[in-house]
Amino acid sequence: MQYYSTNGKSEAVSLRTAVVKGLAPDRGLYMPERIQSLPESFYAEIDRLSFQEISCHVADAFFGEDITSADLHRIVCDTLSFETPVMSVDSNISSLELFHGPTLAFKDVGARFMARLLGYFNKDEKQLVNVLVATSGDTGSAVANGFLGVEGVHVYVLYPKGKVSPIQECQFTTLGQNITAVEVDGVFDDCQTLVKNAFMDAELNNHMKLTSANSINVARFLPQAFYYFNAYAQMKKQGKADNMVVCVPSGNFGNITAGIFGWKMGLPIKRFIAANNANDIFYKYLQTGVYSPKPSVQTLANAMDVGDPSNFARIIDLFKGSHAEISGLISGATYTDDQIRETLKDVFDRTGYLLDPHGACGYRALKEQLSAEEEGVFLETAHPAKFKEKVDAITGGDVEIPARLRAFMAGQKQSVAMSKDFASFKEFLLSE
Ligand SMILES: *Cc1c(COP(=O)(O)O)cnc(C)c1O
Repeated sequence: MQYYSTNGKSEAVSLRTAVVKGLAPDRGLYMPERIQSLPESFYAEIDRLSFQEISCHVADAFFGEDITSADLHRIVCDTLSFETPVMSVDSNISSLELFHGPTLAFKDVGARFMARLLGYFNKDEKQLVNVLVATSGDTGSAVANGFLGVEGVHVYVLYPKGKVSPIQECQFTTLGQNITAVEVDGVFDDCQTLVKNAFMDAELNNHMKLTSANSINVARFLPQAFYYFNAYAQMKKQGKADNMVVCVPSGNFGNITAGIFGWKMGLPIKRFIAANNANDIFYKYLQTGVYSPKPSVQTLANAMDVGDPSNFARIIDLFKGSHAEISGLISGATYTDDQIRETLKDVFDRTGYLLDPHGACGYRALKEQLSAEEEGVFLETAHPAKFKEKVDAITGGDVEIPARLRAFMAGQKQSVAMSKDFASFKEFLLSE
């Protein structure tokens, strides 16, 4: 299958090129030229299939023309070494728990898939591939761990100094091997700009082979569709799938875009809610039809502190720019830190279910917007222990840190200090 650029100025490319390049030369995002619907029979039996089986069907529709079925299914099964259970929280609200992977956040799915696919495409090449990834928190750990020890690949994780939690930081600064952490004196958007500029720099691209692992990469964002199908299957099993509303705590909008791909493939999701923190650019777009990016502000749900969501371009492309269609399918929500705290505490006190600050936005949007005949599922995008200091301060409790998280915290931090201007970053990469 060919992948075209959302900016329409670069030529369409193969899956392999889209994955290795990440971003199109015209700075657009790659999109598959076709979205294949899955047959009725698949949806009829979906609740009898395992997560891995469901995902193999979905992966075949995306990537089946480009990878042999045996290789693709091996990649999918390797990627999905953990479950994504749907847990009931309130009468008509459930949590799709996406934090059972190695770094306890949903990005494990996309990152693990991409690492394996890139390894597959690069297996006969001599030149090292360098993955550049900007992170506001969880991307870095998921990508670094997804690629850790993968031969022929080096990963540079760029993160904003002092703006990710200590627990998030240790998950990508303590690994060593083929992972380099770059601590940027700036905000997340500065990190993202450095990465985008590196891809555009001819001299740098002659010097080394560069690719991205941000949610702009098709191999990272498309596999996130898998767990929407799995959520539907579980809701169907529980007899709750008829009017299913899915709420996605959103930052760069890769996760919700993958869900919309699922919807386009016939997955019976009635509508979506995009829950934002105080970074309300998409919310404002839904209300007004005007998209005006602005610098991100720091919030409690820091993995969603994005002022110019990359995947907005994909949503616009999917609906040919129709604001009416987009706002018909997706509604918005935006919450202050105080509202996040209030929700997290209220749900914990009332139900005993401990949300993380991102999931709290998702829960609250469902609570406020769901009608009586609808069933809501929000994506619980990270384990609350990843934000232990914040969460404990809100609940007055002491959330237990899972063993695999404690193991990271015992490691030694190694990182390279970097200013936010491109010249110094380029110099550093050229010297590597
Ligand atoms: C990345 C992230 C998000 C936002 O996902 P997008 O795909 O960028 O919209 C939400 N919650 C957590 C915990 C994350 O790590």
